[in-house]
Parts: sequence; structure tokens; C-alpha cells
Amino acid sequence: MIKKIKNILRPIKYSIIFIFAFFVSKFNQIFNKNVTCSKDIKRCSENILSPNYRYELLGKDTPICCATNLYTILKDLIQFFEKHNIEYFISFGTLLGAKRHGGMIPWDTDIDVVIPEYEQKKVFDLLQQEYIKQYNISIDEYQGMVGDIIRVNYSKVNHLHADIFIYKHIDNKIHLGLQEVLSYDTIFPLNEISFYDLQVKTPKNIDYFLQHFFGKDYMDYAYKQWSFKKYKFKLENYNPAQIRYEK
Ligand SMILES: [Zn+2]
Repeated sequence: MIKKIKNILRPIKYSIIFIFAFFVSKFNQIFNKNVTCSKDIKRCSENILSPNYRYELLGKDTPICCATNLYTILKDLIQFFEKHNIEYFISFGTLLGAKRHGGMIPWDTDIDVVIPEYEQKKVFDLLQQEYIKQYNISIDEYQGMVGDIIRVNYSKVNHLHADIFIYKHIDNKIHLGLQEVLSYDTIFPLNEISFYDLQVKTPKNIDYFLQHFFGKDYMDYAYKQWSFKKYKFKLENYNPAQIRYEK
């Protein structure tokens, strides 16, 4: 009974948030055009003063400040992994963006990276040592994944982040999520792809990997969150989220 009521109330709740976000963002577009996010200012989706407040819920693209800050986190992480010889690959939405757009999916909200389980503690400790001043780093349990994830937040205030997932290597299989098991040969030896001006590591068989997670038509059709549901549409262009390079 309670479940039934919850199911009825959920769309109503999201509709109210949606309408609220719509009016707040419209109001801010008119009166407050220049709010961009930084280490000291909340990410745009959480900042009620931003014209991009709850942009993801409204089905809008990622603001240039957010995309640039996410790109900066990934750039630093890649430098970090290379410096310490840690094997990583980009994954999920970040890999889809790299393959389909050559950068971030225009409406993406985070960065996804995967490392082997045996490197997790080392990565967490070293990140804490080297990036404690730059970023806010935590380790959290994550439902549906094989283990904990390391989250690298842009700052304590600004929650733009990269998630560093782990994989487990068991009997010639790579376990990425509780349900997500791929053959070793699909992932290794690692491949490379461009992500804006960066060269980043990817699973060996990018196409197979993306089909597994996003379906066979991932190059032509995209999903976008609109209000409380996802909808599918045909892509009209392949531009990545816009970023500023001078950072
Ligand atoms: Zn922003």
C-alpha cells in the first residue's frame, strides 16, 4: 500500500521540482546571466542563483564552466595515473562521449574512470597526498558496482566530480558491475582515443564495450533525462560539450 502511494507520488514530486526549476532558471536567465561555477561556487545544477540551475532536469546542455571543470579533473587524473604508472581506462558515459563526440557528451554531468581493484588503496592514498589542496576526495560504497568508488570532487563546495570505479579480474573475466561481466580480451590490451586535446586509455574493443552498455545504435541515438524520465532521440550533430581550453 505504502509502495503504491509512493509510486503515485513520485511523478508528482518530480513534476513539482521540474516546474520549480523551470521558473527559477527562467528568472535567473533574465536577471542574472553571469553566474559561472568555480571551486568557491556550487556547481551550476545545484546553484539556485545560476541560470543553469537543475539544467539536467530541464534537458539542457552542460554549461561551459561545468564542462571545463570536469575536463580539468580528468586531465589531472590522467597525468596522475601516468606519473604513477597506474593502469586506468575511461568508461561508461565518458567513453561514449569520446567515441561519439570526441569529448564530453553535451549534457553529461560527471567523468567515469576505471582502475583495477588492487590499485584502489594506493590511488586513494596518493590522491589524498598530492591533490588534497586541489580537490575533495572521498571513498564511498556504490550500489550495483563491484566495490567502493573513489570520488574526486572539484572542491568541497562544488560537487562536479570524477568517479573512479574498480574492476575485478576473475578467471579471464572482467567484473565491472554486479551484472556487468566482460571477457578479458574485450578490455585488454588497452586502446586509446582522443578526448578533446587529450589522449586517453580505453578498453581494447570500444565498439563492443559501448554496445554492451548503450545498445547497438549508440552512435546515432542518444538518451537524455527530461524531467523525471529518459527519452531517446536521433542525434543531429556530434559536437562535444563546449569547454574553454586556456585553464
Ligand atoms: Zn558550472
